[in-house]
Amino acid sequence: MLQIYTGNGKGKTTASLGLAIRAVGAGKRVGIIYFDKGGETHYSERAVLRERFAGEITIVPTGLDRIDPVTNEFRFGVTEADRQEAHRGLQMAREWIASQQFDLIILDEINSTVALGMLTIEEVLAVVRARPSELELVLTGRDAPEAFTELADLFTEMTLVKHYFYDSVPARAGFDY
Ligand code: ATP
Ligand code: MG
Repeated sequence: MLQIYTGNGKGKTTASLGLAIRAVGAGKRVGIIYFDKGGETHYSERAVLRERFAGEITIVPTGLDRIDPVTNEFRFGVTEADRQEAHRGLQMAREWIASQQFDLIILDEINSTVALGMLTIEEVLAVVRARPSELELVLTGRDAPEAFTELADLFTEMTLVKHYFYDSVPARAGFDY
């Protein structure tokens, strides 16, 4: 099945991680490609996945580190280097899908990567369409394009009702990253 988690509310990446753990519990092989989220230090789940789920979950982060190591500021905008990294991630997805080495593949933040113009809708659709019927494929990230909705078997939109971020609570290790 093709599952899409999108919307402005919190819960897209964490929902996909919950699914990954459930899949491991059922003996399935899981691969996760992170788009536009390079850098090891800002995402607490990465070391856990690598070290404690070795052999069960394979992760590949792509994208440049958007958080400045000195100022801790988030970098907005899209550069040629961001586009190249997005294409590296998509190429990896293409190879993983063709090789049939995984039962579940999660392309985290690929929706927003398309929405921001780092990948085109068409090139992602071509990869998605080429999946074998046995593969469970999950696409996460805000602003999933219309064309993805049509193809999806499951489409969940996380609705922002409240988020502590708007009460000036900064992102917290272990809960937000
Ligand atoms: P999570 O990884 O917690 O499941 P997410 O994948 O749904 O979140 P992203 O768009 O990837 O959300 O953003 C990741 C970070 O942004 C998390 O720290 C999350 O708490 C925060 N966040 C999510 N939604 C919002 C929002 N509407 N406003 C501000 N921050 C948000
Ligand atoms: Mg996310």
